[in-house]
Amino acid sequence: MKTAVIGGGAAGFFLSVNLKELMPEMDVTIFERSQHVLAKVEVSGGGRCNCTNSFASVRDLSAVYPRGHRLMKRLFNVFDYEDAYAWFERHGVPLVTQTDECVFPEAQDSHAVIDCFLSLARRHHIKICMGRKITSLEELSDYDFVAVTTGGSPKGEGLRWLADLGHEIAQPVPSLFTFNIADSSLTALMGFVAEQASVMIPGTKLRASGPLLITHWGMSGPAILKLSSYAARLLAEHQYQSPLSVNWIDKGEEAVRSLLTEAMIRHPQKKLSTVNPFELSQRLWGYLLEKSLVDRAQVKWGELNKKDINRLVNALCNDTYQIAGRSAFKEEFVTCGGVSLQSINSTTLESKVVPRLFFAGEVLDIDGITGGFNFQAAWTTAYTVASAIATKVT
Ligand SMILES: Cc1cc2nc3c(=O)[nH]c(=O)nc-3n(C[C@H](O)[C@H](O)[C@H](O)COP(=O)(O)OP(=O)(O)OC[C@H]3O[C@@H](n4cnc5c(N)ncnc54)[C@H](O)[C@@H]3O)c2cc1C
Repeated sequence: MKTAVIGGGAAGFFLSVNLKELMPEMDVTIFERSQHVLAKVEVSGGGRCNCTNSFASVRDLSAVYPRGHRLMKRLFNVFDYEDAYAWFERHGVPLVTQTDECVFPEAQDSHAVIDCFLSLARRHHIKICMGRKITSLEELSDYDFVAVTTGGSPKGEGLRWLADLGHEIAQPVPSLFTFNIADSSLTALMGFVAEQASVMIPGTKLRASGPLLITHWGMSGPAILKLSSYAARLLAEHQYQSPLSVNWIDKGEEAVRSLLTEAMIRHPQKKLSTVNPFELSQRLWGYLLEKSLVDRAQVKWGELNKKDINRLVNALCNDTYQIAGRSAFKEEFVTCGGVSLQSINSTTLESKVVPRLFFAGEVLDIDGITGGFNFQAAWTTAYTVASAIATKVT
């Protein structure tokens, strides 16, 4: 029996190695269009490969998989993050979990994962055909099974032949990007971080919280990247032009009002800029005072009137900007969209239109936020396909 795996990336290698472990007699060939396998694994996580997450802070899978959370929940019954963690340790890649729950190789080097995959491929006699771009099944007519692990395709070019075979395609658009904001008084604060902010697209339920970093082109940091993922499709539809509401301290208006009132009572003779009740950096606090109170920014706490308080509350909780374009986050983006989950069997990931054709990894309409969730989706879907093929044969 022969299996062809199209794409020598994370999902392609994980699928091939697991298939050989389940079925040593299976002949497995990986077809890779470039001259370099596992290229994304190499650069991932800043060269350290954030290969999964402990999921300890995840209450709801939809918060980390904006697309595909229901399928991921189902497939986690077959192979989840604990299985992935154990798999890597068992195959000679010790891992460590950081305090932010991201999991990396103990070596802090993506080559630990790459070397593991390459040596397992050698040991199992998996053939690797480089420089072979596959875009039709006719080329693979002597294979019993085909697995497509061609990764994300933000412009959709890699999905056309799959659409021609009859698969529904969820229109691909980029996810995980930062926002361009043309506001020089904001970008003058580049490098400053609001440690606990929340951001939202006004008029929608799309909201994310976490650290927010001001950059020389606009805003970045975990809160922005998460929102870019939740709003990937909406922002694409609006050509990355949209209002953005920032709550710099992720607190409700009433809580902010009472903290301001408390500061008024405790420090009536002090200037506003000298007392910062919100643990914001001094520069950011000064910026928000100037922005909201303009010529009254230098008054004393005891001189604040009702209008001033309202303006301050608004600047802290509902500061509005205009998104004017996107930038890649250190070139890290994933594709939102791909082969629609409607076109595949949700237990085996086999195509509903072409028997014995399977899909795993980012080519599917599954994508996650940063933190190791995208590789976890690759491991889970690849393992599912390997065991589905093995089950079909036995
Ligand atoms: C810079 C960067 C950093 C990242 N860091 C992380 C991280 O730390 N943690 C995390 O979880 N995720 C990270 N990601 C996302 C993660 O890399 C991807 O989600 C993951 O690689 C998807 O695996 P895949 O095997 O589906 O696709 P890929 O890894 O993209 O592999 C697909 C392979 O298929 C080949 N191919 C495509 N079309 C064809 C064809 N027609 N014929 C033959 N071969 C083909 C490609 O050349 C490629 O080698 C990062 C992404 C980037 C861009």
